[in-house]
Amino acid sequence: MSKSSNRSQVRPRPLYADEEGRILEHPDLQLLCRKGDEMALPRPQELTPLPEGSDLFLLPQRRALGFDPETGEPVCLDGYAVAAFVCPGYTLTGLCAYVSEDEAEPLPLFAYGAVGFARGRFWVCAKQVDRNPRQQFGHIPAERIEQGAGKWLRELPDNRLVQHLGRCALTHGCPAAKNLALGRFEAPLPTSRSCNAACVGCISWQPEGSCIPVTQPRIEFTPSPEEIVAIMRRHAGSEPQPIFSFGQGCEGEPLLAAETIARAVRLYRSEGGKGTINLNTNGSLPSAVSPLARAGLDSVRVSLNSARPDRYSAYYRPRGYCASDVRAFLREAGQLGLYVSLNYLFFPGVSDTEEELEALRDLIAETGVDLIQMRNLNIDPELYLDLVPPPQTPSMGLINFRKRLRQSFPGLEFGYFNPFLDSERKPGFPDQS
Ligand code: SF4
Repeated sequence: MSKSSNRSQVRPRPLYADEEGRILEHPDLQLLCRKGDEMALPRPQELTPLPEGSDLFLLPQRRALGFDPETGEPVCLDGYAVAAFVCPGYTLTGLCAYVSEDEAEPLPLFAYGAVGFARGRFWVCAKQVDRNPRQQFGHIPAERIEQGAGKWLRELPDNRLVQHLGRCALTHGCPAAKNLALGRFEAPLPTSRSCNAACVGCISWQPEGSCIPVTQPRIEFTPSPEEIVAIMRRHAGSEPQPIFSFGQGCEGEPLLAAETIARAVRLYRSEGGKGTINLNTNGSLPSAVSPLARAGLDSVRVSLNSARPDRYSAYYRPRGYCASDVRAFLREAGQLGLYVSLNYLFFPGVSDTEEELEALRDLIAETGVDLIQMRNLNIDPELYLDLVPPPQTPSMGLINFRKRLRQSFPGLEFGYFNPFLDSERKPGFPDQS
């Protein structure tokens, strides 16, 4: 039996958790998922066996929902909702369906995928968008990461950035910092202490009194160019295709530290330093990109939750810039010959609508984006739906959304991670589904 016909017959049953936290499957009901305001049965092609490295969550103050095929109605279960946080490389096609109690506390900053059980395994509403194993650690013993971080700290004892990244790897479990400790893939280079946005889902800063926890404490110093370059040099010594990325979860907006970054990049390149130097950014300051490109930057990845200014501003809450500056930044970066990615923060039922597709097509046509990284927006779903204006058209589904973008822009790449670029700034992608 082929993989697709196999999948077309799968009808997972919904999960719920009892007071002891035991996860159970309902014997008769079917899995429901949430797409924006809609509750729907997942389309078969939008289901994936739960990938290794994913986690299941019990959602307090939220009751699980299932679908009764006899009545054609949703049914509220006597148990807590259970959601999946999928491993990196996968994008959610549907969110966990539940009913919240009045006054339920907001959920922490994760993405809550719909997950059910069938044929002896868990199935999640998600699609693999990148085959790169960069953030898979299941087969790596924790001691190897500890030993790697320890070696960095012994070799560069006075480097404050190494100390910061050591904590990120060992205390906060940051995948980018763990890779640095292992001397592989993409090296994180957090630099900026401040930001000119106030994203509702920022993991390194929340306003006073916010009930959303900060999970990656923000860097409290600006590293010197020498401290940054010491890390680049050493990482390039162990990874044959090194990627260096400014703009991490544990910092503010790197464009606000553009001068320091440009000095570090120039210094590294002046020594003949190789590899792809990338900037993850909110793209707020178009004039900052040219000096960085001249210094030796290769690529930028600009994050946004929507190509529509009202949705963008509702989530980013920008200070001193607006969505049109982000467009100008993307245009400028492309004209300078940089490889340009969007970190498109996907939310089923809000992103995959006709009106958003139209706006995104317009943005891509105007700016010439090279790659869309389809990542999950990590936020309490109900909080986000209260924040942005309601969708005007139904969800077309992640798969159709991506297909229609591909039809409009045949050269556009899709993925999840920043690619390594060759000397002509061409990416090498593993075979993508
Ligand atoms: S742009 Fe980044 S650092 Fe700034 S508020 Fe948003 S998530 Fe946080």
